[in-house]
Amino acid sequence: MFYEPFVSRFPDIGYAEMRAVRINGRRDLPDGNYGFLELFCTDRTCDCRRVITHALEEGTAGEVWATINYGWETKAFYESWYRSKQDVVELVGASLEPLGKQSRYAQTLLQLFEHMLGERGYAKRLQRHYEIFKVAQNGNQPAQGSGKRPTRK
Ligand SMILES: [Zn+2]
Repeated sequence: MFYEPFVSRFPDIGYAEMRAVRINGRRDLPDGNYGFLELFCTDRTCDCRRVITHALEEGTAGEVWATINYGWETKAFYESWYRSKQDVVELVGASLEPLGKQSRYAQTLLQLFEHMLGERGYAKRLQRHYEIFKVAQNGNQPAQGSGKRPTRK
């Protein structure tokens, strides 16, 4: 499966709405401005309803501090999708991506991400970005037009 950053197709809305957090004075994470870059799968036929985020830090460009999976659907949804009960546990909720780049701070960043999911509608925002990405991909229109809202089911 291939993943593409949301910001590479929708830079305006992507950067404006990318979750960022300033860390200062924590023992378990170096000070800095962290951002959670969203990536979605580019398979037109796939409706996996998940996001991969790369935790980045402003002062260390290009370095991935953590790779986090987040699936917002139920376990039953992923079981029917993948036709197998194996691996499904990893798809539900947030977890570190086994094949992704991680740093020694990955677990802390995962906890931070999980905490953010509970506030200010971040989970809904990720789902909305997924819909925008998928609608643009499947709708034959050019993958431009940032800010276009998805059609609601
Ligand atoms: Zn997919």
